[in-house]
Amino acid sequence: MFTSLIKAFTNLFKKPQTIDYPLTPILKDKEYRGLIEYGEASCIYCLKCEKACPPGSILFVPVENPPENEKNKKGLQYHYNPYLCIYCGECVRACPKPDEALWQSNKKPSIAIKSDKVNEDWFVLEKLKKEE
Ligand code: SF4
Ligand code: SF4
Repeated sequence: MFTSLIKAFTNLFKKPQTIDYPLTPILKDKEYRGLIEYGEASCIYCLKCEKACPPGSILFVPVENPPENEKNKKGLQYHYNPYLCIYCGECVRACPKPDEALWQSNKKPSIAIKSDKVNEDWFVLEKLKKEE
């Protein structure tokens, strides 16, 4: 009891263990694995990342009337949902061109922009993908 009182008293003069987030940003570890980044110019459209993604947060959806000069893209457009992503890195491991076509940055998803619109848009893409 006496020891606890001393501990409580000394804690009054210590710095807080918590930070004033989001006003004070959280320092990330240099190995932090965050948002997936895509390098369209290096992508070979093998779709290995899409197949490897456990929650389905990468979708290659057909584009209507793709331009002639983009035939190498197989008429597909890359889409990524950062709110579905679990940052496991499986897509990057599956990609034959890691660091060029697909890599995991140390960026965090923004907590401020999530809205129903993100999900609504994603449902449309999933539907298009199923109809493919
Ligand atoms: S990090 Fe994991 S969840 Fe996120 S897109 Fe890649 S495979 Fe999918
Ligand atoms: S695995 Fe890599 S190269 Fe293949 S479609 Fe995905 S990003 Fe492109």
